[in-house]
Amino acid sequence: MKTVRLIGLSLLALAAATQTPKSQPQDEEFGRLVKEWTTRAEFMSPLVDHLPKVPGVPSPKDVLGYYIGAPKKLTHVADINRYYRALASASPRVKVFAAGTTDEGRECLVTAIADEDTIRNLDLYKGYLARLADPRGLNEADARTIIAQAKPIYLFTGGLHSSETGPPEMLMELAYRLAVEDSPLFDQIRKNVIVMMVNVADPDGRDRYVDWYNRHLIVQENEQDRIPGPPYWGKYIFHDNNRDINYSQQTMRNWLAFYLQWHPPIMHDLHESQPLLYTFSGQAPQNPTLDPILYAELPWFAEFEMTKMIGYGMPGVWTHAFVDMWSPGYLGFMSSNHNGMLRMYETFGNAGANTMKRTLGGAEAGGRGAGAGGRGDNMTQREWYRPLPPPRDLVWSMRNNTNYMETAVLSALELTSKFPQTVVQDFYEKSRNSVKAGETEAPFAYILPAGQADMTRVAFLVNLLRLQGIEVGRATAEVKVKEGSFPAGSLIVKRNQPYGRLAKILLEKQNYPDPSLNTYDDSAWTMGLMSQADVREIGDKSVLDVKTQPVDKLEIQGTVKGDGPVVAVVDNGSNNLATLRYRLKDVKFDAIEKAAKAGDSDLPAGSFLVENSPRLRTEIEKLGLQAVAMAQAPAVPKHAVTPPRLAMFSTWGSTQDVGWVRYGLDHFEVPYDLIYKERIAKGNLRADYDVILIPSQGGSAKGIVFDIAPRGKPISYVRSPEYPSLGMYGESDDITGGMGIAGVAELDKFVNQGGVLITLGVASFLPADFGITRSVDASRPTPQFYAPGPIVEAQVLRPEHPIFYGYSQTTLPVRWAGGPLLRVGTEDRRTVLMQFTGGEKGVLSGLMRSPTEIHNRPAVIDIPEGAGHVVLFATNPCYRWQNLGEFNMLANAILHYNAYPKPGNGKTQPAPTAAQ
Ligand SMILES: [Zn+2]
Repeated sequence: MKTVRLIGLSLLALAAATQTPKSQPQDEEFGRLVKEWTTRAEFMSPLVDHLPKVPGVPSPKDVLGYYIGAPKKLTHVADINRYYRALASASPRVKVFAAGTTDEGRECLVTAIADEDTIRNLDLYKGYLARLADPRGLNEADARTIIAQAKPIYLFTGGLHSSETGPPEMLMELAYRLAVEDSPLFDQIRKNVIVMMVNVADPDGRDRYVDWYNRHLIVQENEQDRIPGPPYWGKYIFHDNNRDINYSQQTMRNWLAFYLQWHPPIMHDLHESQPLLYTFSGQAPQNPTLDPILYAELPWFAEFEMTKMIGYGMPGVWTHAFVDMWSPGYLGFMSSNHNGMLRMYETFGNAGANTMKRTLGGAEAGGRGAGAGGRGDNMTQREWYRPLPPPRDLVWSMRNNTNYMETAVLSALELTSKFPQTVVQDFYEKSRNSVKAGETEAPFAYILPAGQADMTRVAFLVNLLRLQGIEVGRATAEVKVKEGSFPAGSLIVKRNQPYGRLAKILLEKQNYPDPSLNTYDDSAWTMGLMSQADVREIGDKSVLDVKTQPVDKLEIQGTVKGDGPVVAVVDNGSNNLATLRYRLKDVKFDAIEKAAKAGDSDLPAGSFLVENSPRLRTEIEKLGLQAVAMAQAPAVPKHAVTPPRLAMFSTWGSTQDVGWVRYGLDHFEVPYDLIYKERIAKGNLRADYDVILIPSQGGSAKGIVFDIAPRGKPISYVRSPEYPSLGMYGESDDITGGMGIAGVAELDKFVNQGGVLITLGVASFLPADFGITRSVDASRPTPQFYAPGPIVEAQVLRPEHPIFYGYSQTTLPVRWAGGPLLRVGTEDRRTVLMQFTGGEKGVLSGLMRSPTEIHNRPAVIDIPEGAGHVVLFATNPCYRWQNLGEFNMLANAILHYNAYPKPGNGKTQPAPTAAQ
């Protein structure tokens, strides 16, 4: 045979295919250790089994002292940043960008990697993508010219969820490898793609988790003696940082700002949960407003990664059957919402860096997976979407995790580098199609009429749209369209703009496409309903020709009309009324209990009466409130508004929904003590507090009372020099055990001694199940019932109750909170303040199966017990910074805690007859 020639050929082929050309010296120790840490030969790939050594360019080990994937090593944020900065100062292929600071003051950092030439000209490429992101005025020929010169930015985010510890480690090794490795593949990636990566998507949570890991978890030997994670990741909202649809959290706002500055066509969020690697391909239900191109791109990438990895013999790589494309509220959706492509992995992890024996089965497919094969799926079974399943019993290590994720990510970059122009062209076409869709498909605009009673909630909504880059205009004259006429100054969101599709997705009613399908998260988020602001859908195309002036940020200037020593602050439902009360906490406030007139101004019940002062006027103006000064107070019944001594109770094991309420109260400057079982155990709650608020948490009454099961030894959450991120937002020598029955007795005593207990959502099981409210029962819907966060209608039964100050409608849109189905005895029916309409017509947006089950069920109850009151919300009036229209019910319940009317005292109205 022609041996010689064949050898020559195969050497050439080898040189092209291999990732480790002999020309580049390799780190031999890395090769040896990584092989040792990889628990099975098939958990490795030729892309990551080696690491080049390049003089002058620091590898992660050179800076950190250990290799990525080393057992029991997790890196703090400052060290991660130190590594990226060292790499950037050593390599002309790497550049870092500061991207703001977090709630706790840590730095958000983004690293860019490409060839020297591209890095030198980054602004040029940034400009190309910006031009394609807003293609208005760009003709097709010019677009083609730009596309031919542009390069896609591929942005990775990792560490959004702090217990998912692998991605921020892996990204450092990836950065180094991309910067230094010599091979045709890496040359091609550097030449054709601008890779970017965030240091850590939630830096605060990262540091807290690493402290917790070093303090408690590092000694864990196996899956069975799992210790729970820390009580907090970031400052407020834990895992929901991936549900922050309105970008309430500072860190998420930083990433959004970076995104809108650079327009990466691909954003890839790296998570951990599923064995061994799940790659998202956007299964049904899909949001039909997003571009069809996106739904072709997602499986294209996922299938390529699977092809490569199964080719390497790596088992357990799969797609489909997990997360769907319905809710736009995940962090990575900022990309697809802005005509890019969001991508997502779930790689198998051990919630730390310990090597552990793991058993895979149905239970591993946890989470709230959707559709066929999602929940309860047997991960070790071969399926069309999982051609090479993983073994059932395995030992899993941090290095395995790194190998899988890095191999997949490099496969994705390989594909991108082979088709960079396709990716950029898709980005352009999606952007162009979005503008076009707004010119050809109704609705053509949304109008927020000027002159709404409370413009502060309109401003809230408009400014959230602006934050996302959506253009909003102010009509310069009266607007006449077939839907009606709207006064000059009305706000118009036209759809013929690059983010017109996003505007539609956020503002429209969610018509769930297939009620037989489950969804991974919320089924509804309609902003107008959530904030109870008037938003009109406009199908008259002439609206596109209406003259508008661009709105940058909508600021509502408050006004004080008239003159006189007494100022009536109009209660028009603004959440800022609570802020005003607390900003002037040393000043006497009264609230009128019945509507009144001041000249030609209406003063609805709940309006404040305050002595006139320059300070008051300044705050009213700043807070966008309306007020009338007058000679003397109107002659109607009133009560003093004296803020209560307020406590908010949190379990240690379920702080997330509490975190949203903390965020809401902090935002509106309502002070409170955050208390835990430790304070409850001390007893005598009434001596310190007038109101105790228990936000939704714990899943059930038992979950709240008994919380984290004891582990036979205390688990402390205490700050120390060694663990500086622990013990924040509360401290405990032992977070296990819960308040227990003794704690319930203290809450009961508190109410009987005249305290007000307010429970939200799931927490409303507590007073019912543990008998603090004897006559209220709480139950759960049937298994047929399924309601992933729809918006439903509720009827106000006792509009005179202070909880409804500022609400002028008798039916209100409220978010279904998964709270209890409450019931009261017939004689206590008058304690029900609001009830759910139920039935099909009671569902205003999103999905609820079996909606008759909530028909006429109480939504809010105020029931006197002993000398106090218990207010049970089956709703959650402070949900994920979304339902700002409901927030005032909570603020009112707090502010007017000492003025609840007695039920059945003649002021109440009879319950309306059943609506269906
Ligand atoms: Zn996650």
